Amino acid sequence: MPIKKNDVVKLEITSVDSNGQGIGRYKGMAVFVPLTTTGDVVNAKILKVKKNYAFAKIESIVDKSKHRVNSDCMLFSKCGGCALRHVEYSEELRIKEEKVKNAIKRIAGLNPEIVNNIVGAKEYNYYRNKAQIPVGADKDGNIQIGFFANHSHRIIDSSSCLLQPKIFSDVIDIFKQWLINYNIPIYNEVAHSGIVRHLYIRLAEKTNELMVCVVINSNELPYKKELIKMLKNGICNLKTVVVNFNTDKTNVIVGNKCKTIFGPGYIIDELCGLKFKISPLSFYQVNRSQAEIVYNIAKRYARLEKEDVVLDLYCGTGTIGLTMASNVSKVIGVEIIEESIKDANINAKINGIDNAQFICSDADKAARMLKSENINPSVVILDPPRKGCSMQLINTVVDMVPKRIVYVSCDPSTLARDLKVFEEKGYSTKEATPVDMFPRTAHVETVVLLSKGEVDSKKVRVEFSLEDMDMSGFQNDATYSQIK
Ligand code: SAH
Repeated sequence: MPIKKNDVVKLEITSVDSNGQGIGRYKGMAVFVPLTTTGDVVNAKILKVKKNYAFAKIESIVDKSKHRVNSDCMLFSKCGGCALRHVEYSEELRIKEEKVKNAIKRIAGLNPEIVNNIVGAKEYNYYRNKAQIPVGADKDGNIQIGFFANHSHRIIDSSSCLLQPKIFSDVIDIFKQWLINYNIPIYNEVAHSGIVRHLYIRLAEKTNELMVCVVINSNELPYKKELIKMLKNGICNLKTVVVNFNTDKTNVIVGNKCKTIFGPGYIIDELCGLKFKISPLSFYQVNRSQAEIVYNIAKRYARLEKEDVVLDLYCGTGTIGLTMASNVSKVIGVEIIEESIKDANINAKINGIDNAQFICSDADKAARMLKSENINPSVVILDPPRKGCSMQLINTVVDMVPKRIVYVSCDPSTLARDLKVFEEKGYSTKEATPVDMFPRTAHVETVVLLSKGEVDSKKVRVEFSLEDMDMSGFQNDATYSQIK
């Protein structure tokens, strides 16, 4: 073993892994050092040694990478939210594009040239329209409300976060004051006692409607009138206040029952020119502007024709399918969360869309049912959670023989794993576009076009251009580029 725990070794960081941490080599052994980046030379203290690799932390920086910047957040490195606040944004985009290309090459076994340049974000701060903020107490009983420390359940008490809209800090401050004023019992996760577990905030950015949801370990929220009054006084765009009941001893944040205590119980946002109802339990993309770009790319890739039937699997509140509905004969959306499906139906109605049908079911079960009814969609949209699609689902989709499949993914490695299976079953991956939906974190979204045989030819790449989307005003030219 060339190194052991507590050794301090000098390392040049030569690459960055998929979690955003730097990798250097010491006597042939890969050493992972968080908060470093390509080009840094550091003295690193070894924390843990495995057979072929080791983990270390920065002891001191000997030479700074030219991509290194001073973090603009005091909590960076303590809180587990961001991973890339120490690099300039153009370098962050390069890292993320590389991450997608690597997965496409190493896991899917495909030519990384099918990956277009990443689409960067106009605004890399304040973009998250949703925050689920843990509430706890320290050992002296002081209220702690803020963010979980890295890899831990310890709460860092802070009302501001650069990823969130500034108004969220006002909500957090008012909420904390209410907790103090009325001596509200705070949830203790070890003892499973107390009442208030999480403060959950959502903002519909386009309409400016704000939702506050209080997650409680009880059947009743005490002093609710007082809370509503304080929020109404301090937050001019407060639209609704909801209580969510979560009495289970669990790490899952929200329970499946809600009660509205002020306003309509939901907010409405606009996306791609359509209105969308967002309920507390429904999925909604956290970065509205970048979601519009993802949906636009998905629509271009789908190359919709009037007679197409679109199957939108993992449809959430129907957003992707509904933005396609006016171009096709029918849209069928499938989603497992009942509240999302209720919202999807309402979303179709409020936008005057009458050719969309939504099914509340597991994606694979619904696809098999549709197949047995001889419904064979010409276009399938896949937008699964991080774990990707099951083999069973891929088989069912392949059996439906859609002309095109548009795969929207938030995890390049499960995406690449699934693309490999589609390739083995006769689909070819035409192109992929990474989009930076989650600036400053290590996560990246990717939209991929797959098609059967030669149906699409190479033309898609030529026809698709970002020029006619509103891409003006980016923070710097290196942050986005047009698809060749
Ligand atoms: N396409 C939507 C939602 C994408 S997030 C949008 O862009 O807003 C993924 C969605 O898949 C979530 O809404 C989640 O509830 C849903 N989901 C997770 N597992 C599922 C399954 N097995 N079958 C159907 N939907 C599922």
